[in-house]
Amino acid sequence: MSKRYTITAALPYTNGPIHIGHLAGVYIPADIYSRFLRIKGNDVLFVCGSDEHGVPITLKAKKDGINPQDVVDKYHKIIKDSFVDFGISFDNYSRTSSKIHHKTASDFFTKLNDNNQFAKIESEQFYDESEDQFLADRFIIGTCPKCHNTECYGDQCEKCGASHNAIDLINPKSSITGLSPELKKTTHWYLKLDSHQSFLEDWILKSHKLDWKPNVYGQCKSWLDDGLKPRAVTRDLEWGVPVPLESANGKVLYVWFDAPIGYISSTIEWAKNNNKNWEKYWKDPETELIHFIGKDNIVFHCIIFPAMLKAEGSYILPKNVPANEFLNLEGDKISTSKNWAVWLPEYLKDFPNQQDVLRYVLTSNAPETKDNDFTWKDFQAKNNNELVAIFGNFINRVVVLTNKYYNGAIPKKNNFLDDDKEVLNQIDMSILKIEKSIQKFRFREACNELINISRTGNKYLADQEPWKIIKEDQARVETVMYVSLQISAILSVISEPFLPNTSKKLKDILNSKDHQIEWTWDNVIKNINLIKTGVNINKAELLFTKIEDKEIDFQISKLNSSKKSKSIVSKKQEVNLNDFSKLNLKIGAILEAKKIKKSKKLLLLKVDIKDEIRTIVSGIAKSYDPYEIIGTKVVVLTNLESKVIAGVQSQGMVLLTKDENDRDVFISPDNISTNEGLDIS
Ligand SMILES: [Zn+2]
Repeated sequence: MSKRYTITAALPYTNGPIHIGHLAGVYIPADIYSRFLRIKGNDVLFVCGSDEHGVPITLKAKKDGINPQDVVDKYHKIIKDSFVDFGISFDNYSRTSSKIHHKTASDFFTKLNDNNQFAKIESEQFYDESEDQFLADRFIIGTCPKCHNTECYGDQCEKCGASHNAIDLINPKSSITGLSPELKKTTHWYLKLDSHQSFLEDWILKSHKLDWKPNVYGQCKSWLDDGLKPRAVTRDLEWGVPVPLESANGKVLYVWFDAPIGYISSTIEWAKNNNKNWEKYWKDPETELIHFIGKDNIVFHCIIFPAMLKAEGSYILPKNVPANEFLNLEGDKISTSKNWAVWLPEYLKDFPNQQDVLRYVLTSNAPETKDNDFTWKDFQAKNNNELVAIFGNFINRVVVLTNKYYNGAIPKKNNFLDDDKEVLNQIDMSILKIEKSIQKFRFREACNELINISRTGNKYLADQEPWKIIKEDQARVETVMYVSLQISAILSVISEPFLPNTSKKLKDILNSKDHQIEWTWDNVIKNINLIKTGVNINKAELLFTKIEDKEIDFQISKLNSSKKSKSIVSKKQEVNLNDFSKLNLKIGAILEAKKIKKSKKLLLLKVDIKDEIRTIVSGIAKSYDPYEIIGTKVVVLTNLESKVIAGVQSQGMVLLTKDENDRDVFISPDNISTNEGLDIS
């Protein structure tokens, strides 16, 4: 039965190109899902666009001495081109700096304001006179009132873990100009998220407990358990959608507020260009709305945006938000600032026309249930051992033999034996499995089943050995080749959502348009013969090519050179072994974690170090939710002087480092057999 779907993929932020992590986490799964639903005959709208507002873009512009518009124009084009190159089949790709988006976001704000959904709150914030702008907390640096660290941020001290308000800093400076900022009163509009608490609890915790992914559900639950608070939707900035109120002169909508509305603007733009009614895709309860995002976006798409849609009153809410975890690269977190990434334009330069190989590898190793690792060796192995040796090899043998035995004309099918019926049966089962997996957002499973179909075909051909019996039993060889060609035709249809270029190439080799019926997914399911005896196919053409060791070595050395050039040598005073050995470092495992009242920064941990359980206060509440770190192995300094922090006696310290976003993260042993209590030396 045909249904209507609105599918969105997270709006990429336009301060850089996109990399394999984005593709694996969001765009390929969204594309597979959209392509699948389309070829099943549904009414699918797949939209996205560039997210072009926010402070980081204004800062990048300032640094490069250009306008914010120049920054977003440049990356909008690069990003859009990458999506086209990799076959991401958006029906519309828009941008939030467009007029249509400004109007849509502005109208949305007005409607919520009319519905009394905002609270107006006045507060004092730091203001940089010479730049004529208010400063976000991260752009204020000063001396920590607690530990006197002179490089303390406006919201928290990275050294002692204290969290505070920017006005508590000693000698605060603007990190943009280095000048002392003034305090100035400013008023902002806050979305009354707290007033939607009970609705969201019912909707998410009761209605979506079973169909949402556990990682998504868990994050939502943790937010709701903490209690929702009003959240500012406006800020003092020049770059963005102006707040449509006279009393809000010089203010724009906060980027988190306007960005998701970008999905709606993109739909309106598409409808205008295609003479369609956009409201059907956002307001008709029969439409299924699905958001594809990465895990860092869960709260915005599961809590805040639905609250906005609900507050507006006329919109549907998402049916599912299948957020993925993160993809790492060669064991490390992908990092834009450290250039630890595989950028899509660079990939295409090194592996021209091999988009499908990357699509395949990223899907068969997608970070669906946990963070996963992309390695170049694995990329090579998946290409050579699966795409080339199984899928490509099967097709190549079928096409070569058909040309050799029958001059390219599809033979007749004679009597089917049990082997023939069995192989086609097995393939039917695989197709049903693929359908089920895609419907459950398990693209990895679906992709592996696709390879199973070609594995089944390959094995059938190897077992039947037509090349051995071609002299004595031509009728049997005709049937074997007929069945093999039918399997090839099935593969050309079923591979389309995953490997669109390969699917097209294979259909061209088999002259798909010359057969008796249309090569559609539904005809495949109905078990109809796709191929017609007597139709000519083309000469063999390799679908995939082997990737050599030297190509992989080149990629690895390219990555490592970016690592070396960026690594910073520490300038601390030298210590001897005796100094170091004074530290008692042990592996610990986190048994319990909870938030500390009135602190945004601190978590209270119980850490098992084998012979005892330590209570440790750690400043990592901004990086982790308590529920996600239970069981995590960490490194503990066990002989640190015990100290009262936030009213709790803290017995030791858990060692931390920073990720590319400057967030504190645990140092964890990655060897599973590293047990708590072990000494580190
Ligand atoms: Zn401090």
